Amino acid sequence: MVDLQGQYRRIKPEVDQAIHEVLDSCYFIGGGPIKTFSQNLAEFLGVEHVIPCGNGTDALQIALMALDLKPGDEVITTPFTFVATAEVIALLQLKPVFVDVDYDTFNINERLIEDAITERTKCIIPVHLFGQSCNMEAIMEIAQKHGIHIVEDNAQAIGADFQYENGVTQKAGTIGHIGCTSFFPSKNLGAYGDAGAIFTNDDALATKIRLICNHGSKVRYYHDEIGVNSRLDTMQAAVLNVKLKYLENYCAARQKAADFYNKQLIGESDVIIPKEVKYSTHVYHQYTLKLPNTDRDKVVKNLKENGVASGVYYPIPLHLQHAYKQYGFNQGDFPVSEQLAQEVLSLPMHTELTEEIQNIILNHLRSAISKSTSTENLLR
Ligand SMILES: *Cc1c(COP(=O)(O)O)cnc(C)c1O
Repeated sequence: MVDLQGQYRRIKPEVDQAIHEVLDSCYFIGGGPIKTFSQNLAEFLGVEHVIPCGNGTDALQIALMALDLKPGDEVITTPFTFVATAEVIALLQLKPVFVDVDYDTFNINERLIEDAITERTKCIIPVHLFGQSCNMEAIMEIAQKHGIHIVEDNAQAIGADFQYENGVTQKAGTIGHIGCTSFFPSKNLGAYGDAGAIFTNDDALATKIRLICNHGSKVRYYHDEIGVNSRLDTMQAAVLNVKLKYLENYCAARQKAADFYNKQLIGESDVIIPKEVKYSTHVYHQYTLKLPNTDRDKVVKNLKENGVASGVYYPIPLHLQHAYKQYGFNQGDFPVSEQLAQEVLSLPMHTELTEEIQNIILNHLRSAISKSTSTENLLR
């Protein structure tokens, strides 16, 4: 699905040098690279504060901790996301309230949000799934109207540009009150281990988030908040600092690969290519097709037999996961998410794809689909 080795080989001298500098300094926690990376990322994103932390899940948890929510307060998100988004809500004794996604974009359907808002709704976590921003203008309007905080889960869309109706653009993850990202190695800006970051333009929230990341402490051994230990390793900051310089190129390479897939697959029956919306660029963390008339799992198996990787993100929506049964959701509650879980198929997507490789993938895909299209569906 990704080619991290190929990507590393191209920047090996720079990355190796950055790592060796950290080794020579023996500053493994804190130090120059952390500050440099945070500043460079803030500049790239056009956001006031970047607070690095241990991983993307921590980033989401810390963001919610900074909002002073009370047990039982409700947080809206979608069931069609990586589990971390809902997990942190549950961990903090808050109540996850799911809102279904839009079939075309995989993102939260903003037209369904207001129906889910109650007096206890304190926060919405829009997830910019697969690399394209949610409709943040509409979501911010709803948030303002109801006095609700927005925490963007931007683990998959770093570098994407959201465009307002008036043409102004802003980076995904910097529009809500807080934005969160992950630098998991396979993410669009991937570290060489776990890493994450939190963004905000709000000075008071930034101060609080910094405290929480560091055991609630500003002065060593004095604790103003109940916090956590979530730091970005110095070594990871050094790696990320090198890779940040290439993020725009990486986004462009993914977009180019997606364009090629799209061009080859457009008009193909039984395949729905990703929809690109007007209000956001797409940085293609995943290139995700829908196969509405096909036994998707059979396609996956067939591709695998032919040595072609593919991914299903995500096979079971969160409201149907065993761990989330306690919240009382049922099959049928979020029909679009449930349908997508059956239909989605992600193809290999990374910065090192060539048209030659993509053509091989596409040929196997076409053949796998033709062998897996169910007559039952065709007759329908
Ligand atoms: C990767 C991811 C996370 C979690 O990030 P980690 O760094 O793995 O903890 C959260 N939300 C989404 C949507 C993700 O894709």
